[in-house]
Order: sequence, then C-alpha cells, then structure tokens
Amino acid sequence: LPVAGHYFQPGLANFNAASLETSDDGEILIVRDGAGTVLAQAPRRQVQATSRLGNVRRRLDFPKAGRFETDDNDGADILLRQNGGFLHRLEQSWRMVLASVMAAGAAAAWFAFYGVPIAAGWLASHTPPGVSAYLTSQTLETLDGRLLHPTKLKPAEQRHFGALFAQMASHETRGQGGYRLLLRNAPLIGPNAFALPDGTIVLTDQLAALVMKDDEIRGVFGHEIAHVNRGHVLQRIYQAAMVPAAVAFVTGDATQVGHIATVTPGVLLQSVYSRGFEQQADDDSAKVMRGMSSDPAALGDLLLRLDRKLCGAENGCEPGWLSSHPLSADRAARLRKAR
Ligand SMILES: [Zn+2]
Repeated sequence: LPVAGHYFQPGLANFNAASLETSDDGEILIVRDGAGTVLAQAPRRQVQATSRLGNVRRRLDFPKAGRFETDDNDGADILLRQNGGFLHRLEQSWRMVLASVMAAGAAAAWFAFYGVPIAAGWLASHTPPGVSAYLTSQTLETLDGRLLHPTKLKPAEQRHFGALFAQMASHETRGQGGYRLLLRNAPLIGPNAFALPDGTIVLTDQLAALVMKDDEIRGVFGHEIAHVNRGHVLQRIYQAAMVPAAVAFVTGDATQVGHIATVTPGVLLQSVYSRGFEQQADDDSAKVMRGMSSDPAALGDLLLRLDRKLCGAENGCEPGWLSSHPLSADRAARLRKAR
C-alpha cells in the first residue's frame, strides 16, 4: 500500500504531494507523484531513512535524488521492513544464520584453543601471592580428610624426603623457603605427586614407596617445582575455569558458571598438563639435576618402573602420576639425553 507524503526535489525549496511504494519484489523503493510519474527510486539499502521517533515526521533520502517525507510512520515502517533491513534478511536466510552460528562456533573454538591459554598465561604471571596461597589452602581443605590423610611413612623416611626436598629447593629460583613439601597417605589417589599454586608439593606415600634411588625423587621434586615456577599450576586452574565461562558466554547456559568454583581440586589432582608443559618441567628438572651433579635420567627410570607397576606394560594406562604424565617412554628417552 502506498504511503502518502511529500517529495522534495534536490536543491529546490518546493515540494510535491507524492506517495511511496515498493516494487513487487519489495527490493526497490519508488516515489510517484499524483499522476503516477516516478520521481525517485532506489534499492532499499541505498535509501537512508531516519529512525522512528514518536510522531516526528519520517524522512527518506534517496541517493543522488531528493527526499521523501511522511507523517505516516506506521506505513513507512511497513515499507521499510518488507524484506528489508539487514537483520530482517539475516533472519530469513538460513544460510546466513548457519554461517553466523559456524562463525560463532569457530570464534569459541579459537578462544578455547588459543585465547584461553594466552589469557590464562597472562593471569598466572600476574597473580598475587595471596591469591596463590588462598587457592592452595582451599584445595587442601577440600582434599585433606577425604582423599589425603596423614602420612604413614616412618619418621626417618619423612626426614629423608624432607632433606632431599630442601636440597632440591635450595637449587631452585625461589630457594628453600619458596617451596613446601607435604607428605600424605592417599590410597584412593595412588602413586602421585602434584604441585599447588603457592609452591606446595604433595607427595603420596604410594609414590614414595616405589622410589629406589634418591635421584628419582629429586627428579620428581624438580619436575613439580618447575610446574610451580612456570605458573603451570595457576594456568591450569584458570583454563579450567575459563572453558565453562566461555561455554556459558557462547551458549547462554548459566549452569556452566556453577562449575567454575568447583574445578580447582579436581584439576590439580588430575595432573593433566599439556605435553609442552610436561616437557618444560622435565627439561627444567634435568637442568637443575645436572647443576647439582645428580642424574636427570633417574626420573625416567622411575616413570618406566611406575608404568610397569601400574599396567604391566611399557606405556601407562591407569590414572596416577605416571600415566597422567603421558608417554613415559618418550620422556625417559628425552631425560636420558639430558644427562
Ligand atoms: Zn608434570
């Protein structure tokens, strides 16, 4: 239905009574005078229309032509919306919608694979010590009494591991006071060692029982301390928190946010670091070991022994310090080269 209004010739003060309509396909806006003569026409996209504002007169500027004005805001809305407007066309085109969804998915995937590690790395290197200490105490509060119990190692064994740890720590960047060893009996966790954000390293009795040489446990301490030094521990917490946050952001699923608070103890226990992180930690450990004339390859021996113990095979297959640090054979070979 045509909309009545006035047409202003470009550069002229006078105007004609005119009407606005669309072509049959709705793509072209056409202004005609009372006799039906076309005064102006242009594709809808090229016509600049003012937004609706109360009863203010609507103005449509035609490219390289004059302008049409009308008080019939409802009529103008109908003509402007018919097929028209980028958003309207977008809604109508499933191809466009699909492409948008895929683009959003690709952006989310990019964020998960690249953005999250970058952001987590930045956060880890800017985390105040107080936050690391808080995350550590919260995690221990959750684990102690449930999965972690007081060590059953003999006092002499405890002193021995404590002395080895202190010796290793004294060769590390933060020095002896920068790290802390906690010995814990953890039958449900099994042979394991893991680092907490503030530099606390937990060693389970079950892993301690499998150690045959001092250099083996020095290697374990050096490896876990390296995870602390490089901020790997914090990065994993941030990554684990950011993935549900990103999923919530993209999908609008608010329940994802609830996962964030509960991730930390699980994340730290699972010890699932990326291969790159593991290699860095092994290399750092080997470097410190060489510096104190210890044998970096001893850690590799322990890894392989644990693999055989847990799975009866050369490659790990059960949860634990070992198999969570994947491809023990590769790591042992690399550690032997680091001698
Ligand atoms: Zn590791």
